[in-house]
Amino acid sequence: MATDCYKTTCSYCGVGCGIEVQKNKKGKISIQGDPGHPVNKGMLCSKGRNLHYVVEDTSDRLLHPQMRWGKSHPLEKVDWDTAIERASAVFRSIIKVHGPDAVAFYVSGQCLTEEYYLVNKLTKGFLGTNNIDTNSRLCMSAAVMGYLQTLGEDCVPIAYEDIELADCFFVAGANPAWCHPILWRRIELHKEANPEVKIIVVDPRSTQTCSIADMHLQINPGTDEVLYHALGRCLIEQGDIDLNFIADHTDGFEAYKVRVFQTSIQEAAQICGLPTSDIHAAASCIGNAQGFLTLWTMGLNQSADGVNKNLALIDLNLITGHIGKPGSGPFSLTGQPNAMGGREVGGMATLLAAHRKLNDATDRAKVAGYWGVDGISEKPGKTATQIFDGLADGTIKAVWIICTNPLVSMPDAQRIEAALKKARFVVVQDISNSNESIPFADLVLPAAGWGEKEGTMTNSERRISHLSQFTKAPGEALPDAEILIRFAKKMGFHGFDFDGMAGVYAEYCQMTKGTNIDISGLDYDYLKQNGTVQWPFPDKSQGETKRLFTDKKFYTANGRAQIKVSGPKHYYEMPSPAFPLILTTGRVRDQWHTMTRTGKVNKLNKHIPGPYLEIHPEDAAQRGILQGSTVLVSGKRGEVRVHAQITDKIKKGLLFLPMHWGKIMGKDFARANNLTGNSIDPVSRQPDFKYSAVQVSCY
Ligand code: SF4
Repeated sequence: MATDCYKTTCSYCGVGCGIEVQKNKKGKISIQGDPGHPVNKGMLCSKGRNLHYVVEDTSDRLLHPQMRWGKSHPLEKVDWDTAIERASAVFRSIIKVHGPDAVAFYVSGQCLTEEYYLVNKLTKGFLGTNNIDTNSRLCMSAAVMGYLQTLGEDCVPIAYEDIELADCFFVAGANPAWCHPILWRRIELHKEANPEVKIIVVDPRSTQTCSIADMHLQINPGTDEVLYHALGRCLIEQGDIDLNFIADHTDGFEAYKVRVFQTSIQEAAQICGLPTSDIHAAASCIGNAQGFLTLWTMGLNQSADGVNKNLALIDLNLITGHIGKPGSGPFSLTGQPNAMGGREVGGMATLLAAHRKLNDATDRAKVAGYWGVDGISEKPGKTATQIFDGLADGTIKAVWIICTNPLVSMPDAQRIEAALKKARFVVVQDISNSNESIPFADLVLPAAGWGEKEGTMTNSERRISHLSQFTKAPGEALPDAEILIRFAKKMGFHGFDFDGMAGVYAEYCQMTKGTNIDISGLDYDYLKQNGTVQWPFPDKSQGETKRLFTDKKFYTANGRAQIKVSGPKHYYEMPSPAFPLILTTGRVRDQWHTMTRTGKVNKLNKHIPGPYLEIHPEDAAQRGILQGSTVLVSGKRGEVRVHAQITDKIKKGLLFLPMHWGKIMGKDFARANNLTGNSIDPVSRQPDFKYSAVQVSCY
């Protein structure tokens, strides 16, 4: 039977694997990794391989707009005109009475770039508020600040092809074997072919990633920065730093040196819970490396000290000169598929499109000029947690939630629930009826999902790809971009007449001209004909930019990288006699976020069928906890009830809960974010999910 073939990109993690979709004349689709794609070379992980089941199973899909006329009324099916009319009437009235900062949008790193661009244009350019933030705030904002402070720009400087050129990998606060599987497969293949390649993993848990590690530094939770400073000290003492690079291309080394020499290696080893010999051995590996890649993700970012940890890690690349050359560089592993694309178009409360700065009057004027509006508010918008604080204290009256499930994914879930209950008007725009915000919604808007709309995304190595539409959305579901455009037009805003998504993208591309992320040479036709490209891409003749800073000119004001002495240590919720253990949360291999898609796939549910608590044998024995028994995990804010998984792979005193499960049979007993708290990094405004004080007992 004849088939049509479509090129697209996996919609789960930030690795950004290329996918070929085959669709036969009966509409049946099948999926395979794109063998010619530079990222995955035909490989796909379990999640990507099963994406077609998610598209085919529409049993949970939202099919029609729904609305309630009052908080005590049920949701009722309405037509699109009624839904959009209601949204615009409520937003208009709230803005008129309370001002534009009384409304907010909370969106997602899974939105396509065009959707992100439109919602930012709508909010910042036309509604007159910067209250638009994203669940990427929970994911990468500490890394963004780390890059900005050291390299002068929110940019991952490496290319994936540096993997095959590196001979030392330093993987910190990450389990890429489960969370970035295809990237990790490339590292595994590289190590298999080159056994001399060294892999150092830093993690309080022994994860799948440790299985091919040469060294596992099983540090005490929260001590990452102490370890990186100790490594910096060792490298200086060993003479394994690049003095020429430091002198010619950086600032801040002397202050850094003073700082790292304040703590002896013995003291650092004691704080981190490591033998001093392990710190020296890791420093020797780094010192001997020709290509040194640091890789990290949520273990560092989701911390009240996340920016400090990022700075201390990036400093290791800077003092050794391992940046801007083959096989070297600091490489933050993006969690979501389009967190980077979202930031490129200004998808955060403190950003403008094309990485222009909200706190810069010239940048604000430029963006306002592009959009044909009088100006853009200089007041920073509310970040993710602040939006819900605003709903709780009544300063924000209306929130529009797009493609995210905050009642499962945000810290201190009860607080989020209370905030949504207090809100005057909640819009939930999603593909799935299992989004747990829906019971709190006044308006539910059905959105098209992956494959049902077109757009672009940017992966972890700055690679932009076009995602094709290959099927129709079920029911009356519409692409998110179309919903936003209809709302903007109903509000009477100009500037939302586009020639499809290509037109939206063209408008954004022209805004990047002359910036560090210039893609003014790019358009849909080029992407469709030539595949993916890495930014910058200022013109077609120049082509893509694989590795940044090969000329050692950084994006800082003076062109020099900044070796940063990290700021004061920030608040952690310290253990106490009542709550003596530390809880960390994270992902499992075959689930994605809050399981609204992967949870539908039987094959994926088989890997780990339900929530569990990892606990060290001694902590379990002290409490009489048996393998598989039900335990109660309690903290200051709530409780969780799950089965115990006793394992010596976790550090004593630490517990691990997966973050995916929300309500099961209507009960929230497994929701990890019942226990997480309100520690926020003051620089990045990223919440801490890795350090909450709790107790465990038999249930
Ligand atoms: Fe999709 Fe990430 Fe798996 Fe690639 S590694 S197939 S992008 S989930």
